[in-house]
Amino acid sequence: MNSIIFPVISLGGLGVLFGSLLGYASKKFAVEVDPRVPIVRDILPGANCGGCGYAGCDACAKAMVEGEAAPNACPVGGPETAKKIGEVLGLAVDALTKNVAFVKCNGTCNNAKNKYEYTGIADCRDAALLPGGGYKGCSYGCLGLGSCVKVCEFGALSIVNGVAVVDENKCTSCGKCAKICPKGLIEIVPADKKVRVVCNSKDKGKDVKDNCAVGCIGCRMCERACQFGAIIFENNLAKIDYEKCTQCNACAVKCPTKAIRGLIKSEPQQEVVS
Ligand code: SF4
Ligand code: SF4
Repeated sequence: MNSIIFPVISLGGLGVLFGSLLGYASKKFAVEVDPRVPIVRDILPGANCGGCGYAGCDACAKAMVEGEAAPNACPVGGPETAKKIGEVLGLAVDALTKNVAFVKCNGTCNNAKNKYEYTGIADCRDAALLPGGGYKGCSYGCLGLGSCVKVCEFGALSIVNGVAVVDENKCTSCGKCAKICPKGLIEIVPADKKVRVVCNSKDKGKDVKDNCAVGCIGCRMCERACQFGAIIFENNLAKIDYEKCTQCNACAVKCPTKAIRGLIKSEPQQEVVS
């Protein structure tokens, strides 16, 4: 009988001893968590998309409370979320501009030529590895195989006539599509700046013309038309300085290939989609 009671008592005693030690250690070495972290975490949308640059919403909430990230660091939450977080942290958050993804290509099936027919895997990253950067005549253009569409968790992208198109009402500017596009032709831009260059080609004008009816040919007519110095040319391609652009539309009107998408300034406002 003793041979059973003794081990039971000693094991029970050891259990109590280790339990007490663990209890003491958990109190002694407990890491203090700022009570505002779970509050901020609850305000964040919980998409865990990494668009803020942190590993997920938990990490982002901690960084915000510790002052490493701004209250508006979450692109998915937008201005409303930023405002609520600012209130919890006692920080003023200025009215924030919504950003959206923008696909800098209008090389649709009608507008752009292909070099050959592609029958491989429906993934832009695979197609872009082929000689010449893929099947498209323009090596800078949208391949239209929808890698960006697959990665968007908000259903904001679709392929229309061979080119990716963003639904700005659904886009949260998380930037996942921009990261995955092998052509680097998705940019995150201010949603209210509607005058945009819809081309990504750095080719010379003649090569652009050979491959696409609506590409930027580097003629600089837009640069001359802009009274505000808002057009910059880099590698034969027009780029808009959104700080300077007043959306007067002069560049879009002058562009001979309609590589600049403008805005009709009448009520209701309508985009000019070439
Ligand atoms: S379109 Fe791009 S930036 Fe916008 S929500 Fe989808 S993946 Fe994010
Ligand atoms: S935008 Fe980029 S990722 Fe999306 S379909 Fe075009 S090439 Fe592919």
